[in-house]
Amino acid sequence: YAKRQSENNHCYYQSKLTKTTQNRLQLMHRLKQALTDEKLQVWYQPQIDLNTKAIVGVEALIRWQDEDNNFIPPNEFIPVAENSGLIVDIGAWVLKQALEDIQEINQSSAQKMKVSVNVSVTQFKSSSFISQIKRLESENVDLKNLLELEITENVVMDNHNEIILVLNQLKELGIELALDDFGTGFSSLSYLANIPFDTLKIDRAFVINYQEEIGKTILDSIVLLGKQLKKRIICEGIETIDQAEYLRSLQCEIGQGFLYYKPMPLQAFKEILLTPTHQ
Ligand code: C2E
Ligand code: MG
Ligand code: MG
Ligand code: MG
Repeated sequence: YAKRQSENNHCYYQSKLTKTTQNRLQLMHRLKQALTDEKLQVWYQPQIDLNTKAIVGVEALIRWQDEDNNFIPPNEFIPVAENSGLIVDIGAWVLKQALEDIQEINQSSAQKMKVSVNVSVTQFKSSSFISQIKRLESENVDLKNLLELEITENVVMDNHNEIILVLNQLKELGIELALDDFGTGFSSLSYLANIPFDTLKIDRAFVINYQEEIGKTILDSIVLLGKQLKKRIICEGIETIDQAEYLRSLQCEIGQGFLYYKPMPLQAFKEILLTPTHQ
């Protein structure tokens, strides 16, 4: 009887697993179709100088509106795209689109800014990534002044040696690099000193908890660490004036968050830049 039961359990787990796999497969196919049908979009979230409130940069964030016009969150489909390798094509598309858009933005506004583009691990490790960058360079796209790449801390931790080669190549091309979700990946501090990042993006989790004793201590420490390593610091996920004021008191220069702006389509962003009151 025990054996039969364990066989049943086995079947139960197997069919459950298959179901998840099926869902992922289905999501992957829909995503692939969305890419082919040009149904993916790039939205933009401004980055703000916490002292002057001026818009000093912008992060490109992918958006996928499905057949029923529902937005599927990137945190749901990016991992699927990663596992299936589809991220290589999606990432290349986001990069191309974001560079086109930032050139358009800079043409129509007095301010000149860079666009920050998220790069995921599979994309980063694929040879087509660096060749896309080099191709853009040879086409005279002014990457130095237009582009910042965001790479999450986990990527750097998991593949240290391999990744650092690519990071150095990018630095040689003059491209700015930001370490995204900083503080969530348990970076060893010695890594931090050696990797060629210009910017640390402090994860939202640390901003949320700043009013608690422990949370505050951690936030204070990582901002200080970043400053002492001479990194530019961006705080993600600022939602309240109190948070913004506190970060300003820590001399964190740049912030991003719903307090200022949510991510928005290109057109909306261009309109904001044209309104004198946005500062
Ligand atoms: P991320 O790069 O850390 O981007 C910041 C995320 O925080 C965005 O979520 C943004 O909408 C959200 N956010 C910004 N301010 C606030 C705030 O004040 N409160 C709250 N609650 N959230 C805020 P989003 O767009 O859903 O993206 C989630 C993640 O998906 C990104 O995290 C990034 O890791 C990934 N992702 C997005 N676009 C791309 C892409 O084009 N390529 C790759 N590889 N990953 C992407
Ligand atoms: Mg990011
Ligand atoms: Mg982040
Ligand atoms: Mg994130």
